[in-house]
Amino acid sequence: MTKNELNRPFSILSVDWQGNFSTFDPELLSVASDRYGSFNLGNLKDLQLVESTRTDQFRRLMADMSRGVDTCHMGCEYFGLCS
Ligand code: SF4
Repeated sequence: MTKNELNRPFSILSVDWQGNFSTFDPELLSVASDRYGSFNLGNLKDLQLVESTRTDQFRRLMADMSRGVDTCHMGCEYFGLCS
């Protein structure tokens, strides 16, 4: 894994045995949060990957991911190593 793969959408695609998929960090496939609910973006049987990028859930994830990276960039001396 190279740096930036975890915050670049679909650099990593995680799929469970039922076809549910998520991206970014592979651990997101099996967890949920109050803010997002499940991190699954859809099921490969029903939804093409490109279609999943047009959902409100994906847009919110992408916006928060970008904001987080910007915060790291502005405030962390290790950003050059970590990104
Ligand atoms: S080490 Fe720095 S750049 Fe990496 S995630 Fe933490 S705050 Fe962000």
